[in-house]
Amino acid sequence: MPELPEVETITRDLSRQVVGGRIARVYVWDRRVIRNCPTEQFIRTLTGQAIAHVFRRGKAIGVRLESKGFLVIQPMMTGQLLYGTGSWRNVRTQVTRITFELSNNRYLNYNDQRLFGRLTCVEDLNQVAFLKSIGLEPFSRQFTTSWLEERTRKRDLPIKNLLMNQHFLAGIGNIYASEILFCARLHPKRPASSLSSREIKLLHAAVRRVLKEAIRFRGTSMNTYRDLYNQTGNFMKRIQVYGRGDEPCFRCGMRINRIILAGRSTYFCQRCQT
Ligand SMILES: [Zn+2]
Repeated sequence: MPELPEVETITRDLSRQVVGGRIARVYVWDRRVIRNCPTEQFIRTLTGQAIAHVFRRGKAIGVRLESKGFLVIQPMMTGQLLYGTGSWRNVRTQVTRITFELSNNRYLNYNDQRLFGRLTCVEDLNQVAFLKSIGLEPFSRQFTTSWLEERTRKRDLPIKNLLMNQHFLAGIGNIYASEILFCARLHPKRPASSLSSREIKLLHAAVRRVLKEAIRFRGTSMNTYRDLYNQTGNFMKRIQVYGRGDEPCFRCGMRINRIILAGRSTYFCQRCQT
């Protein structure tokens, strides 16, 4: 599932390619990916619109339209946005759910194998339910060590589960939660409230360091993630623990552990992380 670094990579590339351009036509091949908005209204709202701005919030992509309104895309598990020039007809596949034909002979396909993704059109971002309750952005000024200390103090759940809670921090999923905790040398099962001030500082720094580096390497393609140009991310080579069960820890050589936490595979080194 695309997490913050992957969605940020898509957002930056998309912004570079489409801002100032126009959506000439919208083809809906499978209306199941459009949520909370009638298909006809979706098409009508977007057709002919100029694109003013593209931004990311958590694991979602927002597109602000020139006149009014927004297109919001949540890729969820297997959603992909693929951009190109020329005819979309040559690249449309069975899993292409929506095609945006853009000005100047360009296209943007929304592909989604498993149909968990969601696209919606709204006049106001407050109409998007998940945005109303979404947590802090890890790169925002509000995300400070004192905020983290304050917000973990009374939470007894495992720190990994808290990191993945989108109402707490936005954009961290299963892969980066494991990577961040390895970087901070914290055991994923540690109750959030048990973290010392020193550990909070390490965690805060690890959140930003890991996400920043993953953005620099254009994300991780563990499963179906592809960028706007259908390329895989390069962060795979920098992954420390995720998906490396039974392989040696890069830091100490001990075997990486895999456990299930809140139903999700969790990887850590029991010597390096306490
Ligand atoms: Zn280790």
